[in-house]
Amino acid sequence: MNRDIKSQTLEELQAELRAWEQPAYRASQVMEWLYAQRVTTWAAMTNLPGPLRERLAHEFALYALALVTKQGDADATQKFLWRLADGALIESVLIPATPALYGEASDRHTLCVSTQVGCAYGCQFCASGLDGWKRNLGVEEIVEQILAVERWHAAEARLRGGEARTDPAARLVNNLVVMGMGEPLANYEHLLKALTILNAPWGGGIGARKITISTSGLCPQIRRLADEPFQFRLAISLHGATDAVRDRLMPVNRKYPLRELAAAAEYYQARKGRMITLEYILIAGVNDGLDQTAPLVELAGRLHAKVNLIPYNHVEGLAWERPAEVAQEAFLAALEKRGVAATLRREKGHDIDAACGQLRLKTERVRPAA
Ligand code: SAH
Ligand code: SF4
Repeated sequence: MNRDIKSQTLEELQAELRAWEQPAYRASQVMEWLYAQRVTTWAAMTNLPGPLRERLAHEFALYALALVTKQGDADATQKFLWRLADGALIESVLIPATPALYGEASDRHTLCVSTQVGCAYGCQFCASGLDGWKRNLGVEEIVEQILAVERWHAAEARLRGGEARTDPAARLVNNLVVMGMGEPLANYEHLLKALTILNAPWGGGIGARKITISTSGLCPQIRRLADEPFQFRLAISLHGATDAVRDRLMPVNRKYPLRELAAAAEYYQARKGRMITLEYILIAGVNDGLDQTAPLVELAGRLHAKVNLIPYNHVEGLAWERPAEVAQEAFLAALEKRGVAATLRREKGHDIDAACGQLRLKTERVRPAA
């Protein structure tokens, strides 16, 4: 199979075109078509000479995601289910900024992207891992999630407001969270290259500080990421502040127990000088006891981390439950009282299967991939 053009950096494409004895600026023109105009065909790249377009088409694939379904309404959380070339399904979630909150313009959006089909890590509460791991996503399949959502948005805007309001180069997504299906750090090379492309001024143009990678705790890769020349934000899916709780929820903790995870996180924090986020799903009767707050406070303090409490989203077929709201608030208050920066996700949007992996699971079970 041909390499996909969306897996190439500007430098790589320049080198390729140099070997074809083409002027260097042709590579920039191609990137402009891909990332500013978001075209999906070679024919649309009208300022390239015909023979060059033909050769590009011959040497590179130009892949586009196919939308299967979308859930949710505009101005709220919207979830996209995509079909890949081999029929596999993945999800991306588009989350608008809360306009009322800081008086921010409501055109700011966060996109949550997937990095694998399924997941091998088998966390007990998660829909993504329920049917196991199928494969890593390619660089272009990660990059395309942003482009496909932006194309979809531009088409919607055209439908609603006519041509005048649509600037094809206007960017919808200015925040990226790598928290969709899959364990991003288990697809390290493809992830890093995709983020390089999405971060580049000639590519996605999303600042590194606006990109958050979430991991279940792969310690060697956390250290490796710390040594990369990027200021990505790191979120760690903690969900338990003791090995006893974490072992029960996350098999990965047996390989990299909390002591090791904390050391790797500390290393990341020291290298980047940035605040880490600890994600903590509240599950009734499992990790929501107030006795869990003391070890959590200690860990957050040591890592200079903030804690993001997320009420558990029910997953069909799993027995776990979300704690009552008073219990959630009590847990939050206990953290805050001891000086930890913590937030509790209170907004709705969970009625649309907002936890990644759920929409795909449902679709695969009702309507197996063709
Ligand atoms: N594999 C990575 C990134 C994808 S999971 C990781 O584990 O961090 C993204 C986040 O969704 C994680 O914090 C995960 O624990 C959380 N999550 C998974 N299932 C959930 C559920 N049912 N309810 C709430 N959050 C869930
Ligand atoms: Fe995989 Fe993350 Fe789900 Fe765990 S929480 S099974 S690591 S996607």
